[in-house]
Amino acid sequence: MTATVRFAPSPTGRIHIGNARTALFNWLFAVNNKGRFIQRFDDTDIARSTQEFADSILYDLHWLGIFPDATEYQSRRIDIYDAAVERLKAARVLYACYETPEELDLRRKVRRTRGLPPVYGREALTLTPEQVAEYESDGRRPHWRFLLPNFTSDPLQPERTEVHWNDLVRGEETVDLASLSDPVLVREDGTYLYTLPSVVDDIEMGVTHVIRGDDHVTNTGVQIALLQALGAEPPIFGHHNLLTTVSGEGLSKRTGALSIESLREDGIEPMAVASLAVLVGTSENVTAAHDLNELASHFDPAATSKSAAKFDPDELFVLNRTLMHQMPFEEARDRLIVLGISGDKAEPFWLAVRGNIDRLSDAVAWWRILSDGPQEPAEFSGEDREFLHQAFDLLPEEPWNGTVWKDWTGKIKEATGRKGKPLFMPLRLALTGRTWGPELSDLLPLMGREGTLARRP
Ligand code: GLU
Repeated sequence: MTATVRFAPSPTGRIHIGNARTALFNWLFAVNNKGRFIQRFDDTDIARSTQEFADSILYDLHWLGIFPDATEYQSRRIDIYDAAVERLKAARVLYACYETPEELDLRRKVRRTRGLPPVYGREALTLTPEQVAEYESDGRRPHWRFLLPNFTSDPLQPERTEVHWNDLVRGEETVDLASLSDPVLVREDGTYLYTLPSVVDDIEMGVTHVIRGDDHVTNTGVQIALLQALGAEPPIFGHHNLLTTVSGEGLSKRTGALSIESLREDGIEPMAVASLAVLVGTSENVTAAHDLNELASHFDPAATSKSAAKFDPDELFVLNRTLMHQMPFEEARDRLIVLGISGDKAEPFWLAVRGNIDRLSDAVAWWRILSDGPQEPAEFSGEDREFLHQAFDLLPEEPWNGTVWKDWTGKIKEATGRKGKPLFMPLRLALTGRTWGPELSDLLPLMGREGTLARRP
């Protein structure tokens, strides 16, 4: 059977690096198992879901290098969920409840004061037909709960009922169904909560591996019970730890913090995001992979730790710098053209500056320095100015070869007696306006003799 995974966000905001972790775990699992990746939008909450957010999520996934084999929207599959509801009703495992949220809240408080677990007590199962008729005539509409199989013969007497699975990430897992409330599957307005559409889709779409955040571990107990009630074999589940900030705060789609969009706008490379999103909180070192196939070879769900994956966004810049320093010209070429960097000099230019930039767009400033001169001409002491005049007079005639910088500075040294920093720093400042930057031996040929002389202070 083809391994089939899905990434199932609600399109209610832009995805962040923590969501990307889930998407990438699924994608890399599919890569390593020659499987299929389904992009599924859990958009049954029509008030909060939008097509714009769904499109933005697809855009962000493409940017990361994820290209789904199929894209599905739950809002277009309601008939399928309705049919599943009929089957559950016929099997008498879906029952109507009429409590208001306030009534449920009160009951929970009462249970707590009596030392009982704050789960739903299945009071709706004891309603008489007259009580139901009264609720209905009062205009109340039922919501529908799934009867968890946690009892022998009397649902009002739940017993410890363990659901087990061997988690791809966490190993043996157990959930006791008696510790949970019967989940509401259908709201009183007839709309679906997450559980039923997700389970029905996992069955219908042939999902073999459900890989998601560990905030869903408890749901898995319920979902296995529901899968079985629908006559299906449960898929294999894997729950990865969630990304948190260094201080332990979770990420939220709502705040927009660390969204893929904002990282892209900050000039972070997709592979810096992907490498950190996948490797942090695992036993692998966080290093910059150059593409998702390389990252897949470092990916093993079982190597993921069980505790939260704390990460420092500054690590993204470190990875980004590494990617820049190693990026071949062929990979940078088209993006440089977009930034206005093209022509014969583009390749030697890139090779000269890539080791000194944090993000690709930083190359623009260097390109300008090389074509137009220092952005802000440096100020020199009288002594340095004198030194520079002497130095520029010694600039070798063209044609230049690869040793022009060495030849030139050799002559300057001889003539002025300066060496080391007092020799190089005034030259660097005069040529680039900056105290740091790429090797001048690489930059000088790019400026040419005329360009170099034009920088004489
Ligand atoms: N829409 C759910 C979420 O974003 C999907 C969970 C799942 O993968 O089953 O949490």
